[in-house]
Amino acid sequence: MHIEIATLFPEMCETVLGESIVGRARKAGKIEVSCRQIREYTQDKHRRVDDTPYGGGMGMVMQCEPIYNCYKAVCDDMGTKPHTIYMSPKGKVLTQQRAIELSQMDNILIVCGHYEGVDQRIIDKIVDEEISIGDYVLTGGELPALVLVDTVARMCPGVLSDKVCFTDESIYSGLLEYPQYTRPEVWEGEAVPPVLLSGHHKNIEKWRLEQSIALTKERRPDLLAKYSEKSDL
Ligand code: SAM
Repeated sequence: MHIEIATLFPEMCETVLGESIVGRARKAGKIEVSCRQIREYTQDKHRRVDDTPYGGGMGMVMQCEPIYNCYKAVCDDMGTKPHTIYMSPKGKVLTQQRAIELSQMDNILIVCGHYEGVDQRIIDKIVDEEISIGDYVLTGGELPALVLVDTVARMCPGVLSDKVCFTDESIYSGLLEYPQYTRPEVWEGEAVPPVLLSGHHKNIEKWRLEQSIALTKERRPDLLAKYSEKSDL
């Protein structure tokens, strides 16, 4: 899997992408993630990439040409047209299911907007889908792009040590995860639930499922309804 991020703030992305599991996966060659500075692709002598909106209004709009030149360079380097995503609060809200589908793609380009966003004509020309990370507005597409890369990357083969690491998780499993505990056995007078110390795997599994169902019922009845349909609960 090869992901390119087109952004005005590549250093901001690189800082995050160099750390933790994604950073290690990149170093080990399990996934390729790189950043493109959109400003490198402008013809403007002052390296401007934005202008005022037609029709008036606040803020600036990112111009088509630098993004289009950047897109063409990515296509040339990848040797194919990548699946192109524009991070936008107007997009479909990201789900685990969409992340699973994206993790099966070979080449992805993520375009990050800034200011008031990008000229609609570049979206119409190159973008395959718009993705939002939630019903709130951020100052730029970099954090949303990093959220997307993180969730997609962890499902790529070899990034986590075992598939179970991401299938046995909240949402993916269809339920919210049961509570987790680690040493010490008693902390501030609070003991770990005894069943987890019993070594009885069937009972532990049963307890965890019951906890998951109770938590999902309380916090996400919508998820539980879907889960029940599938599992004849
Ligand atoms: N004027 C735009 C609107 O009202 O829809 C918002 C622009 S926002 C200030 C700047 C950029 O941040 C957007 O172009 C987009 O790339 C990114 N962005 C902001 N909120 C986002 C969200 N919830 N999901 C994905 N991207 C977002």
